[in-house]
Amino acid sequence: MVSTVRSNKWIGAHVSAAGGVENAPLRAHEIGATAFALFTKNQRQWVAKPLEHHSIEAFKRNCSRLGFRPEQILPHDSYLINLGAPDPEKLAKSRAAFIDEMARCELLGLTLLNFHPGSHLKQTSEAECLATIAESINLAHQAVPNVVAVIENTAGQGTNLGWRFEHLAQIIALVDDKSRVGVCLDTCHTFAAGYDLRTYDACETTFAEFDKIVGFEYLRGMHINDSKTPLDSRVDRHHSLGKGEIGAACFEYIAQDSRFDGIPLILETIDPDLWPQEIAQLQAWHQQALTVE
Ligand SMILES: [Zn+2]
Ligand SMILES: [Zn+2]
Repeated sequence: MVSTVRSNKWIGAHVSAAGGVENAPLRAHEIGATAFALFTKNQRQWVAKPLEHHSIEAFKRNCSRLGFRPEQILPHDSYLINLGAPDPEKLAKSRAAFIDEMARCELLGLTLLNFHPGSHLKQTSEAECLATIAESINLAHQAVPNVVAVIENTAGQGTNLGWRFEHLAQIIALVDDKSRVGVCLDTCHTFAAGYDLRTYDACETTFAEFDKIVGFEYLRGMHINDSKTPLDSRVDRHHSLGKGEIGAACFEYIAQDSRFDGIPLILETIDPDLWPQEIAQLQAWHQQALTVE
């Protein structure tokens, strides 16, 4: 028997922080998670009141008591932020909000911040937008120490960039501090963007391409979601694992491949009632691979 305690396969879900950030680790623990994601403020509002001292202390205490280290926690920024915004006023507002998000992570002792790269809104070129996003990351790095900017790949809906691996690579190339930039791959977004994940071989090909263009050394987290929409749909609709167009093989692959160890693997699937089962299934696949070895 292989002990799950020593496993560094960190699997969890994006849990609610309702009632205070300190509740997120409790909710993650309840569903059997060894990783979690959260919003550190209301994700649909620009301004939030500062985190209170007692809330910060309770968050840190709950995390350490339940065994969640900073590298197992993947906070997600607000949906309103566009770090590639063509309009100078909107860009300034987004950059200020992003720096505030980073500062909140720093206060909570967290080291990762997951965000959607940005949209050109048909007002600038892709290349200009990607450069603006990289400059936004550089400014955030100058403002806040320690926190890694984790760029999430997108489904490529509308004018959202970051759906091609090349976009991620181009942003990283323009970031000055490479030690504080990383990538979060969302399986649903990857698939909707046109990278097949439906079979073992398709996963081999897609992740080999990711490694060639971006590099696994930049992979700092994953969002583990099936997709309601077909390959290359460029439409982002999550589904429960095994119930969508991707199918179970991809999730078994990720659970069993050690390149996805030591980073938070976060479910954002549509039925939170299934999270305990989905986490248990992923851990079971992981254990199978360990037992075979
Ligand atoms: Zn996201
Ligand atoms: Zn999504």
